[in-house]
Amino acid sequence: MLLKGKKALITGASRGIGKEIARRFIEEGAEVWGLATKSSETARELATFATEKGTEYHEIIANIGDPATIQPIISEALKASGGFDVLVNNAGITKDGLSFRMKLEDWESVLRINLTGTFLVTQVVSGDMIRKRAGSIINLSSIVGLHGQGGQVNYAASKAGLIGYTKALAKETAGRGVRVNAIAPGFIVTEMTGAVSEEAQKAWLETIPMKKAGTVTDVANAAVYLASDLSEYVTAQVLGVDGGMGA
Ligand code: NAP
Repeated sequence: MLLKGKKALITGASRGIGKEIARRFIEEGAEVWGLATKSSETARELATFATEKGTEYHEIIANIGDPATIQPIISEALKASGGFDVLVNNAGITKDGLSFRMKLEDWESVLRINLTGTFLVTQVVSGDMIRKRAGSIINLSSIVGLHGQGGQVNYAASKAGLIGYTKALAKETAGRGVRVNAIAPGFIVTEMTGAVSEEAQKAWLETIPMKKAGTVTDVANAAVYLASDLSEYVTAQVLGVDGGMGA
């Protein structure tokens, strides 16, 4: 078990990639706190699974895009848990549209949740990790943050921002035992990509050297590696999980 004895906070754990990261972390022995905006059946499923695996799952309800409430909620979870060894900033949204007619609200909400939300959660958790001189922070970026994508200027800016944020924070914390890395998934089958038109999905598939979409487990396995001591000399990196798309 690669994560036995570790405590992990995962944002956006109610579905998609975050749910699978939570499931794989539990499978590897971690105790997991999963955050989402509302209570879900997933939380009950993960709690049952955790009990079977001899560990625990805790649900946190919060909106990472609300600066007034998110930090007090994370501070409370931090106290209740005794501190996190791993933080996975996975929660994210899309509000797609062409740049010239994008509403300011759609630009701002994507930046607020994907980038500022990550900053706010991490600020609380990393302070404690630095005091303890140990921790692994994993930010979910995207291939779109590296290469761009028409119709997603807000999302691409937020995900590119996360890469700069990852590298800068990694440099601040490397000497204090805290590692910070990003995962840049390519085309992964989830509800988020299900919202993309069939035509766009086909066009994406053609650009993947491996000629297939990735699974949530492909991404979760990369998160297990970055959370575990197997990656103890790895920081400030962007790990592509993209079937060769980012090369
Ligand atoms: P998803 O299925 O849409 O799930 C998003 C998760 O984020 C949900 O658990 C959702 O919780 C949570 N969330 C959204 N807004 C939130 C907020 N304001 N506060 C707290 N939680 C919030 O997304 P996904 O496809 O699994 O993607 C997960 C991450 O990977 C995202 O950061 C995404 O950008 C990135 N990514 C995905 C792909 C892909 O192909 N799917 C590719 C590259 C990168 P609720 O249930 O409460 O709404």
